[in-house]
Amino acid sequence: MSAFHLRCSECGREYASARDRLVCDDCSAHQEPGSPIRGVLEVELDDLPRAWPSAQQDDPAFLTGFLPLTSPDLLPPLAVGGTPLLDAPRLRESLGLSHLSLKDDTRNPSGSTKDRASLLVVAKALEYGYETVATASTGNAATALAAVGAAAGVRSVVFVPASAPEGKLAQMLSYGADVVPIEGSYDDAFELCLEACDEFGWYNRNTGLNPFTVEGKKTVALETAAAMAPETPDVVIVPTGDGVILAGVAKGFADLARAGLIERPPRLIAVQPAGSSAIVQALEEGADTIIAVPEAASVADSLVVRAPRNALLCLKRIRESGGGGVAVSDEAILAAISELARHTGVFAEPAAAAALAGLHEALAQRLLDADERIVLLVTGTGLKDVPAALRAVERPEAIPPTLDAVAAQLRV
Ligand SMILES: [Zn+2]
Repeated sequence: MSAFHLRCSECGREYASARDRLVCDDCSAHQEPGSPIRGVLEVELDDLPRAWPSAQQDDPAFLTGFLPLTSPDLLPPLAVGGTPLLDAPRLRESLGLSHLSLKDDTRNPSGSTKDRASLLVVAKALEYGYETVATASTGNAATALAAVGAAAGVRSVVFVPASAPEGKLAQMLSYGADVVPIEGSYDDAFELCLEACDEFGWYNRNTGLNPFTVEGKKTVALETAAAMAPETPDVVIVPTGDGVILAGVAKGFADLARAGLIERPPRLIAVQPAGSSAIVQALEEGADTIIAVPEAASVADSLVVRAPRNALLCLKRIRESGGGGVAVSDEAILAAISELARHTGVFAEPAAAAALAGLHEALAQRLLDADERIVLLVTGTGLKDVPAALRAVERPEAIPPTLDAVAAQLRV
């Protein structure tokens, strides 16, 4: 537990923590609708843990020491985080790499990394006395908020594109969220959620806008580093939509460096679908901001956004890390679902499998070397989007229940 303040990621102005404080007053004055968020605030803790956990990577005292909360009792009773860092020998060998690990965040309660942000945001909502938390989402953030809200007894209102995968809709409805399907895109949902929070006085979990989303997601980096210590990864590959998970990973390693627990943060490589790649395009063009992609589309629905909300901070952190970005086709993403599953036993949704597609592309572009310590962040389970996974495999015909038919089908 630690006292903290907030610092603007654009101008550096500092703010005391306050119930309604989301963005920098100065920089947000330049905000344009449908553009990346101006004046994103980052949490700066006054004190950080100075030693690795003595036992397990998910030692709660170690992790909560990095969180801006007045009490650990505020954390909702749901087992978020503490996911395994898996060795991936078969995948590593097939790719000709020396060191490859998977951070398997499919194991979170609602099946995605977004649970980490929701856990902290709901804890802050309880601390600040909010009864309702709202978010816009392509699906996973809404599901995560619904799950954590259910555990905490906090009302969740979620704005999602009506086209969100049914698995995600089934989850958020089952958790009891008030689901508002939008006849429009995620970007439309984002703007509407902003207006609704202002109008109805709800706590806004919108990713990137709420500083505790980045702060919650940083735990994925803390756990990864703790599991690898005293080694540190050279490269972390991060599927990227709005850029908040990437900023969270960067924040986690930055905090560890500040605490003296690591010497050098890893390079961060953002992976975006070719049909929704505003951040990667800005990296390739050397631009400080993005040009929105009006018709953004991909099979990786979690990564589809016209104007990535956290683009400014994300671009800054990628460049500071010495990393880069790659765009991958939908075909490569679909192929990566089964490649990952067959070589590791980890079943990922398209957005998460994009990390492996991105690893192929990064190797092709020589953004990393085969002997580096590489971590793939696998951000969501394949059960969230079963139809997408079925597109990448050949489904066998049904057979009569006879041994002959088995022999004919399996050619044994
Ligand atoms: Zn500012």
